[in-house]
Amino acid sequence: MKYSRQREVILEEVKSRYDHPTADMIYKAVLEKIPNISLGTVYRNLNQLVEHGLIRKILIPDDSDRFDYCLSNHQHLYCTDCKNVFDIESDVLKGIDAVIEKETNYTILSHEMVFTGFCERCNRKKD
Ligand SMILES: [Zn+2]
Ligand SMILES: [Zn+2]
Repeated sequence: MKYSRQREVILEEVKSRYDHPTADMIYKAVLEKIPNISLGTVYRNLNQLVEHGLIRKILIPDDSDRFDYCLSNHQHLYCTDCKNVFDIESDVLKGIDAVIEKETNYTILSHEMVFTGFCERCNRKKD
């Protein structure tokens, strides 16, 4: 991948946050450093970073894609109330590839899972 300052600034922005931002959130933050950048450029660069394995894209059902700098083996919970995305690390999920391989004879390379529901804070609000 050829060096591009725009892409470098975008990558730094994704790296600096843990809130699984949308392209729009990255765009608004990057605008302060590169005032003439467009949302399309930000989106294109984010996807290039995903293709090169530098960041991860999380597809959220019925909502915008999210971007994550943390590449370690973890899955996500999407709160349909506050629209936040949270990390889940569970031993049950870590062993799931082996279980599926045994049941199907497929070779599993990766899996993506998004759990939807309500986060702890939104659950408390409901009580
Ligand atoms: Zn919530
Ligand atoms: Zn994550």
